Amino acid sequence: MSEEHPRRKRLLLLVSPNTYRAGAFLDAARTLDVEVVRGIDVPRELNDWWDVPLAVDFTDVAGATQAIQAYAAQTPLDAIVAVDDSATILATKAAAALGLPHNPLEAAEAARDKGIMRALFAGHGVPSPVFRRFALTANPADIAAQVDFPCVVKPLRLSGSRGVIRADNPAELETAFYRLKRLLLADGNPEDSTDILVEDFIPGFEVALEGLLTGDGLRVLALFDKPDPLDGPFFEETIYVTPSRLPEATQAAIADCAARAAAAIGLRDGPIHAELRVNERGPWMLEIAGRSIGGLCSTILQFGTGMCLEELLLRHTLGFDVPSFDRASGAAGAMMIPIPRSGLLKAVSGIEAASAVPHIEGIEITAKVGGPIVALPEGSSYLGFIFSHAADPATAEQALREAHSLLHFEIKPTLQVLQSVGG
Ligand code: ADP
Ligand code: CA
Repeated sequence: MSEEHPRRKRLLLLVSPNTYRAGAFLDAARTLDVEVVRGIDVPRELNDWWDVPLAVDFTDVAGATQAIQAYAAQTPLDAIVAVDDSATILATKAAAALGLPHNPLEAAEAARDKGIMRALFAGHGVPSPVFRRFALTANPADIAAQVDFPCVVKPLRLSGSRGVIRADNPAELETAFYRLKRLLLADGNPEDSTDILVEDFIPGFEVALEGLLTGDGLRVLALFDKPDPLDGPFFEETIYVTPSRLPEATQAAIADCAARAAAAIGLRDGPIHAELRVNERGPWMLEIAGRSIGGLCSTILQFGTGMCLEELLLRHTLGFDVPSFDRASGAAGAMMIPIPRSGLLKAVSGIEAASAVPHIEGIEITAKVGGPIVALPEGSSYLGFIFSHAADPATAEQALREAHSLLHFEIKPTLQVLQSVGG
């Protein structure tokens, strides 16, 4: 090839083997005629067994950064995109090592650690819950004496509401504490060097903001209402609907709060996914992440004349023109189908009837029939997703509810579940 032709842009996509979202980014890259190298999270011990061009162990950030550097020395990379939370720190470090634009490493670390994030929010006056950090070795009775009720017990570094539990009194706090402790120990966290957070429960209505930080500040790409009450004791995600039905002024206050939260932790470029609660005192930051929305929810977002979220983000990251930041007209909804109880998923029925509900665009059952499923607060997945499009948000929401009511999941208790009942 002659040097006069600029080479195609090449993107490193960091994906874990079980991500839902790689496909959307691969499609977007194809549309943009961008070459994609997949950096797949493979534990170092299994490296030789997996035939992947670039195997990186997300838990070994230094080693993985080196592997990416060595790869890029042969095969130049123009951008690095983390598809999931688990790779955001690696993506930042590797981009820094390659001299590509990136967020400060501290920002990537704060976005992954709820304790650091809370401290930075508080230090910068971003409205957020009062929080305290405790060791896993602490005595819950001592914790109860130091916090207000209702409170929320949560891990520092998990996601998808895993281990997040509301407690209304000292007895509930003790139960929640030990339940979270069991989960963290089972995940392999060392008992003597793991902390948790206990924070004030913020009542209110929850929203999620999908945005893009550019040199001009925060652009809101979509604001989602979460119309199902999230009052605990566990906090399963269910319905997301956009556009928001909140008053304009409230939406503006939410965007302002999210922009301040991003600045507080040092995020300044690229996608953000923020979660907030809104009550009579205004918006409160729960969380902000330096990545786009997870799961399959981005499926429902379209911009300009049919550009998907992933294409918009890749265009931004690669310095291509972004023809529009405006969401296509109409309303859209997604439902993450929660796991009602743990057990063995025996069968799923009603998909055809549910798909036939007006305004339903698609149903995706992601749980494996025949496999075990684990409910919150220990679980980390959904049964699947339902997507809807309609002229207005209320109709998009109602369609999701109706479709969900037509789905039937046969769940058989397993021995393990029976043994842990009451435990
Ligand atoms: P994760 O990273 O696992 O999603 P979050 O901190 O976002 O953890 O908590 C998950 C959910 O729990 C939130 O979306 C919210 O519904 C609820 N939640 C968490 N913290 C609070 C709080 N302080 N007050 C009220 N609800 C909370
Ligand atoms: Ca969250």
